[in-house]
Amino acid sequence: MLENTPPPMIQRLLADPRPIVLFGAGDVGVLAHHVLTRQGVPVTCFADGRASKQGTVLRGLPIHSITDLPQLADEALVFLCGNYLKTMTDRVRSAGFTRIQDCVELLDGFDFSGSEADTGMSPVLAERKAALHKHETLKDREHAEDTLILKYLDVVVTEACSMKCQDCSNLMQYYAKPRHSDLDLLASAVDRIMDSVDGIYEFRVLGGEPFVNPRVHRVIEQLVAYEVVEKVVVYTNGTIVPRGANLDCLRNEKVVVEITNYGQHSKKFDALQETLATEGITHLSKIPVWTDSGRIRYVERSAEVLDDMFHNCCVNDIVTLLNGKLYRCPFSANAHNLKAVPDAPQDVIDLTGDLSGAALREHIRALYSRDTHLTACGSCAGRDYRTPQIEAAIQTRRPLPLTVVG
Ligand code: SF4
Ligand code: SF4
Repeated sequence: MLENTPPPMIQRLLADPRPIVLFGAGDVGVLAHHVLTRQGVPVTCFADGRASKQGTVLRGLPIHSITDLPQLADEALVFLCGNYLKTMTDRVRSAGFTRIQDCVELLDGFDFSGSEADTGMSPVLAERKAALHKHETLKDREHAEDTLILKYLDVVVTEACSMKCQDCSNLMQYYAKPRHSDLDLLASAVDRIMDSVDGIYEFRVLGGEPFVNPRVHRVIEQLVAYEVVEKVVVYTNGTIVPRGANLDCLRNEKVVVEITNYGQHSKKFDALQETLATEGITHLSKIPVWTDSGRIRYVERSAEVLDDMFHNCCVNDIVTLLNGKLYRCPFSANAHNLKAVPDAPQDVIDLTGDLSGAALREHIRALYSRDTHLTACGSCAGRDYRTPQIEAAIQTRRPLPLTVVG
């Protein structure tokens, strides 16, 4: 996008002196502010529903509660800078605002190169945040039309990892005899899932460590070939530099390699980054922040407490395919796979048989739209803002002891 030819929406905003409020002081808010100010559109303030943000300053602007802005309600345009659009719209409306819109037109297609110093997000990450916002917005719009679009699908290619983190939230520390996934079963299951849903925003290829599986390329090649899939993100711990077909398959515009930087443990971090850069493969790295979510321990809790945990969980919509079975979250997948929680047919979709088509669609819809806790939540410490943070990647020599249920 050329900066000297603003798109129509920006032209409209430049010609309109009325105030602009960005509702949502998170990443989408930062990106929206970046896009507007880079094109000369002044923003009046941020607003946010979280008390912890209100009264603070973001990018030189105050963050208010939306209910504290009645003087702006008549004329301000409010951009919804977040992904919970229905809730956000309700809040802004009830504060008296009528000019409300999402950020799709603002962010979609914007060239974020050179934005990192201002936003703190790499261009790749910024584009992913923008794409996710678009996806969530479209999902909201399409809800009434009965479409079925999954935000994420974790595709587990191996139970093995080149590290043994004692608090791995994917529970690798409990696998005494890890195996690679059966790739024929995996291919057939993914094909049937793709036939049964209307789209998947992001496939996430992971393990364990995906590159310990010498044939992970087969999976990546299959996933990028689906037209409706926008991104295939490969999660790696920076211990292995892929070669041959496992490297070749990454040279695709849909692929993003996300390297978690575990410092001294990520022994090949520099070499991996260098190889990916040389090959022109899109990649980004992250320093991990961990919560204490990697232990299987049953705790007696009421259904209300478990439902609350489930609702607040940040991975409760990461549908996970593991060994031919589909689960609502990665913890549920691995806990069931390890047989560490009681059987719960209502929490699992079994694709080891020939379930497909409309019947599979209804199973996926039921699992994805369910809003009560999973059986696995009973043995999970939760993953939300209340879960204590812990040091990442402490290594264990031996697998942790496991109680097999039933
Ligand atoms: S958290 Fe550690 S053990 Fe778990 S997948 Fe990542 S690197 Fe492997
Ligand atoms: S709280 Fe429930 S939904 Fe969240 S990770 Fe744990 S088992 Fe999964």
